[in-house]
Amino acid sequence: IITNASSAVSAPILIIGAAGFIGRFIAEASLASKRPTYLLVRPSPTETKRNNVVKALEEKGATTIFGSINDRDFMEKMLREHGIEVVVSTVGGAGILDQPILVEAIKAVGTVKRFLPSEFGHDIDRADPVEPGLTFYNEKRKVRRLIEALGIPYTYICCNSIAAWPYYDNHHPSDVLPPLDQIPIYGDGNKKAYFIDGVDIGKFTLKAIEDSRTINKCVHFRPPNNCLSINELGSLWEKKLNRALPRVTISEDDLLAIAKENDLPRSIVAALTHDIFINGCQTNFCLDQPNDLEVTSLYPDIPFKSISDCFDEFLVKVSHPVCKELKVVVLVYKPQN
Ligand code: NDP
Repeated sequence: IITNASSAVSAPILIIGAAGFIGRFIAEASLASKRPTYLLVRPSPTETKRNNVVKALEEKGATTIFGSINDRDFMEKMLREHGIEVVVSTVGGAGILDQPILVEAIKAVGTVKRFLPSEFGHDIDRADPVEPGLTFYNEKRKVRRLIEALGIPYTYICCNSIAAWPYYDNHHPSDVLPPLDQIPIYGDGNKKAYFIDGVDIGKFTLKAIEDSRTINKCVHFRPPNNCLSINELGSLWEKKLNRALPRVTISEDDLLAIAKENDLPRSIVAALTHDIFINGCQTNFCLDQPNDLEVTSLYPDIPFKSISDCFDEFLVKVSHPVCKELKVVVLVYKPQN
């Protein structure tokens, strides 16, 4: 019998990387669900932007603990002291390989009922990016295999792309608004991908945490209305701007050339962009494995925010007097020879 039994919402959760891009959405959703929420933050007296994010989360009720997942003794002590039952890691880039120490600490403590490693993207066991994206995925795969070998209850969140303009270089999607001068089109622009609003990533991750059906499963985010090609994304953005923009093709060779430069993190982003918009890695497989779950089947009554609504918010931002002065410049890679 499949039930929708929830884990107690009073069970304390620890979020690692809450000041980061994805982590903030998870922390906001956890606080909205009234769950006792602890944030593990690496001390940094200088980073004002990050400190402001943490302060805002504290004002909503979060408790900050300073430390790093690199320190196994500290992690074990902290997990025990605070009775942590759910751990969500949203470490980025170089932090991925810090997670085995965290996994070992969770195993030693033995009281964590659910661990979500830092995934929040593609199904890394199925996607097949070129290097250096492949090395990045191999690091994430290593964490998956350790979790499974140690028998830690897990959920892998495969939320696909965040709803923002998909830049192919090292721009964080949150840092740049959609293009105002020309639209970059990857390949023929027809491969589709799923674009999920950040708030929904947080909200549905929390739903999955509270749901016994998702233990030891991979939860894929595939809301049909959020599946668009870059050509469709461009047309929608033009409609919002009420004007046509020239389109610039970023070819498969352009993306592969940037990936080949091995300039991190830019080349990783180019490799993943290639996998999404040339290989179609988000849509080229069926959810036919025993550990696959699809989020809209789990929660059919809860709608996802549409891309149209997300773009309306971008439109408000680009209409701001300060933004009107800004131009997004699209750089096309042309190899020198
Ligand atoms: P960020 O770099 O924005 O944030 C990572 C956070 O983790 C930072 O706050 C960082 O702290 C913290 N951190 C890193 N190492 C440690 C450590 N050893 N101990 C404690 N904290 C640590 O990461 P992102 O949000 O970009 O990435 C998170 C995940 O989401 C990744 O798996 C990434 O692949 C995925 N992602 C998915 C996207 C999508 O479109 N689906 C888009 C972007 C990311 P500090 O500030 O001290 O460095």
